[in-house]
Amino acid sequence: MSKSKSKRSKEARVEEALIVLLVEDEESFVEALSLGLAHEGFKVVVARDGAEALEVFAESNPDLILLDMMLPKMSGLDVCRTIRNQSSVPIIMVTAKGEEIDTVVALEVGADDYVTKPYRMRELVARMRAVLRRSPGDDDADLDVGEELTELGGIRLEPETRRAFVRGDEVHLRRKEFELLRVLMGNPGRVLTRDVLIDRVWGSDYVGDTKTLDVHIKRLRTQIEEEPHSPKLITTIRGVGYRFDGT
Ligand code: CA
Repeated sequence: MSKSKSKRSKEARVEEALIVLLVEDEESFVEALSLGLAHEGFKVVVARDGAEALEVFAESNPDLILLDMMLPKMSGLDVCRTIRNQSSVPIIMVTAKGEEIDTVVALEVGADDYVTKPYRMRELVARMRAVLRRSPGDDDADLDVGEELTELGGIRLEPETRRAFVRGDEVHLRRKEFELLRVLMGNPGRVLTRDVLIDRVWGSDYVGDTKTLDVHIKRLRTQIEEEPHSPKLITTIRGVGYRFDGT
């Protein structure tokens, strides 16, 4: 086993820092985030209102955008909508407590995910890495099918044999339940809309009741969650869809 050799070549690889465009008007957040993200190895560029966000976006060509919802001059939603018309750059919306209705709209206008203030740096960076795992230019048609990532959050899937293990014990999932879990686990930390999930699991020509999806999620939870009534692995994003949160 030549582990040391492969480690060495990995270290020798030169990696450029990813650029994060931070759109935020509260100075205390700007300072804390700039420091924290730089510490995580990101290069941070800052815009302090919506109009400036569009300018800095055009100049800096960022790899990811952290976009505050409430901004002077132009709202975060409008900025998101405008950028989405020209780019598929990952966008994470930052909302304040009580703006939950807006988060639904945020995902509808093309944000990849959202975090709610106050959040922990660790949580934010985990979300950022999750959306960055998708290569730029991906859209819903290129969702990961979970071939590589088959072990997460205590769940292990064996796609070849269609066997599933939960915290070490085998559980028996029906075909569609297995497929649904596989799509969710293949896109950890990412909100998948109901339409996308139905399309992926039942096919784009599916015309049945969309309640079918909820029934399958409910059954999946009884199989994989420690407490199905307060799920930790499959999170419901009300009015939008579901997200796999295992780490
Ligand atoms: Ca703000």
